[in-house]
Amino acid sequence: MSPQPPTYPYDAPASEALLARATAVTPGGVNSPVRAFRAVGGTPRFMVSGNGPYLTDADGREYVDLVCSWGPLLLGHAHPDVVQSVGLAVARGTSFGTPTGGEVALAEEIVSRVDPVEQVRLVSSGTEATMSAIRLARGFTGRAKVVKFAGCYHGHVDALLASAGSGVATLGLPDTPGVTGAQTGDTIVVPYNDLPAVEKAFADFGGDIACLITEAAAGNMGVVPPDPDFNAGLAELCRAHGALYISDEVMTGFRVSRAGWFGLDGVRPDLMTFGKVMGGGFPAAAFGGRAEVMERLAPVGPVYQAGTLSGNPVATAAGLATLRGATDEVYAHIDSVAGQLGALVSSALGEAGVPHRLQHAGSMFSVFFTDEAVRDYDGARRQESYRFTAFFHSMLAQGVYLPPSAFESWFVSAAHDDSALARVADALPAAARAAAEARPDGDS
Ligand SMILES: *Cc1c(COP(=O)(O)O)cnc(C)c1O
Repeated sequence: MSPQPPTYPYDAPASEALLARATAVTPGGVNSPVRAFRAVGGTPRFMVSGNGPYLTDADGREYVDLVCSWGPLLLGHAHPDVVQSVGLAVARGTSFGTPTGGEVALAEEIVSRVDPVEQVRLVSSGTEATMSAIRLARGFTGRAKVVKFAGCYHGHVDALLASAGSGVATLGLPDTPGVTGAQTGDTIVVPYNDLPAVEKAFADFGGDIACLITEAAAGNMGVVPPDPDFNAGLAELCRAHGALYISDEVMTGFRVSRAGWFGLDGVRPDLMTFGKVMGGGFPAAAFGGRAEVMERLAPVGPVYQAGTLSGNPVATAAGLATLRGATDEVYAHIDSVAGQLGALVSSALGEAGVPHRLQHAGSMFSVFFTDEAVRDYDGARRQESYRFTAFFHSMLAQGVYLPPSAFESWFVSAAHDDSALARVADALPAAARAAAEARPDGDS
């Protein structure tokens, strides 16, 4: 079924050689699936260095980076303050297995930025944050069921790797071998931006629902912002039924504003999850919320949660340097760059006559190759993603690194300046023409 990967008028011999070695010792040659370029075909680029808005691959080719490590690098690659903080931290020792002052400072920074977070616990990945938040919600409420949205990604937590069955508000079916029906049997999957479906789920299962988890603004099916009253409606339904409202801000947190998506819509969750930006390119993540809920965690309360490298001093130094560098001016700059880039992409595609929708959630944005506004996962999947494939490879060949999938957000950083923008602008007309000329897989 998978289409023959098209051939492109460029090659990457050093990346190809590394991929050959990598596939011998690692499944698919990668340590996270989307890096493998399966959705777009071709050879994934093995990167050797990053500097500001640029990446350099093993063949010595430079790219304007519009992925930013999938979101963490808010200040750009190798920001001097982050590099210096990390160097100082490493020289003092890399892990102690004891509490440290750096963890306190990072927790204080998070608590001071995000009003609903009274207490926070540091972990090492976004997956760990959402997994722990759900365990805590179940422990706090004494209930089992979790509501999630189709197309929202919360890391590879077993209970959350669930797809909707047929119909609305159905119990989840495992999305992958290795996850059992028992693990997803308490997961209820509903369509995004569909408040009546959520109401029905609460009407059917209200007393059993421990929590609802949602991306504060969806960025893992491409960018699909919540309808204006959607998040407030979710919070209200949770409150009415005694369930906890968990806002997953692993992607949006500290990226779309000082206080993440909460800073834009002001809807107060019971629990929030963070990752990506707050680790500054290192493995650090967190979950936090009302003290009354957080105090149910060990060692104060009975809900167990732990981690050998949680609050690691090097990762917390990187995260703290990143957050301290994430000033109002940085957010204003990133908003402006994202707005300019979106307008450039849209006008190039428009001139080439390519049906498309540019969707923003704050400074996160992505392009859907469709005429209709995308409000949920089914809408996202109706796009002509073969056009993205052609667009992606043309941009890559011209030195612009986009996420290698039509279902991912694009990210910019404080380091993206006029000259990086100009390089993208120069590449767009040819890429838009390639998208216009693309034909569905199988056609020639
Ligand atoms: C990236 C992401 C996660 C998972 O974080 P990892 O650090 O990759 O485990 C969870 N939720 C959202 C919204 C994300 O974007």
